Amino acid sequence: MKFLKNNSPEAEQLAERFIRYAKIYSQSSSENADKGIIPSTPQQVEFAKTLSQELIDLGFQNVDVSEHSYVYANIPATKGFENAKPFCLLAHMDTVEEVSGLNVNPQVFKDYDGHIIQLKNNIVLDPEKIPALKQAAVEKDTIITTDGTTLLGADDKAGITIIVSALKYLMSHLEIPHGLIEVMFSPDEETGHGMDKVPLEKLKSKFAYTVDGGHLGELESECFNAYRSDLVFTGCPSHTNAARANGMVNAISMASAFIQSLPRHEAPETTDGRLGFYCPLRFSGSMEEAQVSLFLRDFDKDNMERRKAMVEQLADAAASSFGGTVKVEHIQQYLNMREGLEKVPYVKDILIKAFEECGVEPVMTPIRGGTDGSRLTEMGIPTPNIFTGAHNYHSASEWVSLSQMVKATDIVINLSTLISKL
Ligand SMILES: [Zn+2]
Repeated sequence: MKFLKNNSPEAEQLAERFIRYAKIYSQSSSENADKGIIPSTPQQVEFAKTLSQELIDLGFQNVDVSEHSYVYANIPATKGFENAKPFCLLAHMDTVEEVSGLNVNPQVFKDYDGHIIQLKNNIVLDPEKIPALKQAAVEKDTIITTDGTTLLGADDKAGITIIVSALKYLMSHLEIPHGLIEVMFSPDEETGHGMDKVPLEKLKSKFAYTVDGGHLGELESECFNAYRSDLVFTGCPSHTNAARANGMVNAISMASAFIQSLPRHEAPETTDGRLGFYCPLRFSGSMEEAQVSLFLRDFDKDNMERRKAMVEQLADAAASSFGGTVKVEHIQQYLNMREGLEKVPYVKDILIKAFEECGVEPVMTPIRGGTDGSRLTEMGIPTPNIFTGAHNYHSASEWVSLSQMVKATDIVINLSTLISKL
């Protein structure tokens, strides 16, 4: 079913809402989040307050901001659907810190005609090089870009916009049936700590959807298994003039031999698609002791076990060849959500149906990273991810397609109705 039309007042409102959110500064800080400070920045506190007030004004119920700035709200079931399965929609409020999100100045190109877009700082959007942009021109779509000096923050303000717009539509069209729908807007997704303080006790839903994907049709239900391996090499230092006699063992040499022995064809820069990798991320130390940290990534659980064993073997080999010792510890970061989702297949199946009803072909690419959805799935709430229609995330060339945001909004409305009939 098609609910929102392009060029309709609802589509206009959606664009306005997105631009309004995009202009609100909400950058997060991994330095603070790593220290356990959630939200990591005061601007996220402000954005949470603004959003919650807006939800109250729009008629959402039980609106609440937690002490860690998670915004919760819900809309009640329509008459006769009070016993339908409740579900939750999530999006994140923060923007990434690598590119500034301060003073975002969105540029709107209505009826985009396919010309090369020149922004400040020599940022160029050329439809010949960006197929999605070329398609937008064919459809005379409205697109929104940055002015070249900041990111756009469509990641994930497009997600917030889609959720708010879809539920607002449902609240003003009570003839469209749905059960209880919950909403959670979270801080600090970009710092990797987005679900650290999530008030799960608020949720009645047993499953959820994040609206935080990119290209049209993206439906993500698989991500990496992720571990960090911390290694400590211990040597035997000596004054260099008597090193041979004293049997000096240099921890730095040992650790670098270990790093050199990692398979070069299994690094992030030499893999893509479904291939996993080892990635050294930290190396420090002295002759006496050297610390190395690695990211291990793999979609397959058994392969991940093989990777962990491989790190131990290579570390032992490096240590024993120098006559030193090594300790290895593997820390789980997040797990592939595929397994959690396979236990409740209807969560993904019904989403695929919602895509199809909107004429959008699902594109299921595994995510080479983790998401809030993968953390939630681990916590027992299976959570696939829906596209937003935003492109070139985390950069000054980020842009969003209005018609794709409208399609995602339609998918959320269809999904709500389909779930009520489960
Ligand atoms: Zn995001």
